[in-house]
Amino acid sequence: MNNAIIKNVKIPSLENEVFHAVIMNGRYEKIVSAFSYHAEEMIKQEGSPNIEIIDAEGWIMLPTFTDIHTHLDKAYTYEQIPNKTGTLVEAIENYKELAGEFEVENIKKRMKKVLEQALANGTGRMRTHINVNSGPGGLKALQTACGLKAEYKNLIDLQVIAMIADPIEELKEDSSFLLSLIKNDIDGVGGAPHLSENCTEEIKILFAFAAEYQMLIDLHVDEQDDPAVRSIEEIIAQVKHYKYQRKTTVGHLCTLSAMETNEALSIIKEIVGESINIVTLPAANLCLQGRDDQKNVRRGTTRVKEFLANNACIAAASDNINDPFHPFGNADMLLTALMSAYANHLTGTEDIKKVFDMITKNPSEIFHEKVDIKIGEKADFVLLEGSSLADVLANQRPGRKVFRNGHWTSIRTVKQTVERGYNIHA
Ligand SMILES: [Zn+2]
Repeated sequence: MNNAIIKNVKIPSLENEVFHAVIMNGRYEKIVSAFSYHAEEMIKQEGSPNIEIIDAEGWIMLPTFTDIHTHLDKAYTYEQIPNKTGTLVEAIENYKELAGEFEVENIKKRMKKVLEQALANGTGRMRTHINVNSGPGGLKALQTACGLKAEYKNLIDLQVIAMIADPIEELKEDSSFLLSLIKNDIDGVGGAPHLSENCTEEIKILFAFAAEYQMLIDLHVDEQDDPAVRSIEEIIAQVKHYKYQRKTTVGHLCTLSAMETNEALSIIKEIVGESINIVTLPAANLCLQGRDDQKNVRRGTTRVKEFLANNACIAAASDNINDPFHPFGNADMLLTALMSAYANHLTGTEDIKKVFDMITKNPSEIFHEKVDIKIGEKADFVLLEGSSLADVLANQRPGRKVFRNGHWTSIRTVKQTVERGYNIHA
């Protein structure tokens, strides 16, 4: 279905009107007001056998979502790896102890569950971090994810980041492990250097490796409450050294919120100046940060408003889904968007538009793919049941229709019937 007319659709980037969108050869050819003279002309084409006509009935059209930071290997392990205290420390310990026991079939089944959910929810692109280590079976989750990358191509485009869990000393002594990673279809390397005793050294090794093979680098950064933790400064230095602008992504940056404002703003300006991509992960941070605060408990997320005010490329993403780090989640970017709005006071009319940029335009830029509803661009969109962006967020309705690469890749409609044939006071 490369040719279609999507009738009666709302496109928030074109303000609050109803439109008809004509798609020819998989691209937007015309987008006109549903109340214009041209709309009448378009409707006449309904008789053409080569054009499918879809009445969107006022649903919202957005570019398909990009979930730029997930952990497919950890997802849906909460029942097998619980977290009694709910803390980050226990999550890391329990996961490290038990993760190696999962068989490939189990890993694959859990990964597919997330991908199928994300697809039905309107996600077109996803980046996953996958833990790797040089021990026996240390690459099985990575190999499984790379296999699914091929299987899901054109449904959900997947980027795989090898998240290195080995101690830095071992990486220095033996490069064969690092070289074994690039034999897989990975897009980049990652880690959580602020957790290492040799944080600076680890950052240097990761950048040297990424730069040698021209891979992306995507790090978990300063996911702590202590304002003295600021590995981001070394990361900025390495980006300058290797000229790694746009290829570097930093997630979390929680300690920026703990610092004095003037200190944080100076780091934010450097991050933006070096075109480093930022990802906020509200679900995990709301769960894990501020646990020792006795009053005015912190939300734990980074300074999203300050990044937005400085025109940063900042995205919001799911992070962990039903695992010891975060027991909830459903691979729905609307939930991530709603949490971002609450956690960062993004509830003004313009703020809500920016929240949607953080799950569409900005993360697709980080993915190095342009997705926009404009004439000439590739038609790659999700239709969402709802009357406005605020309504879509508030009600999180299940209705979604996803169109990518000239096809409907997922359609989900749920009709609710209210039965009134009884007396509620009886
Ligand atoms: Zn993460």
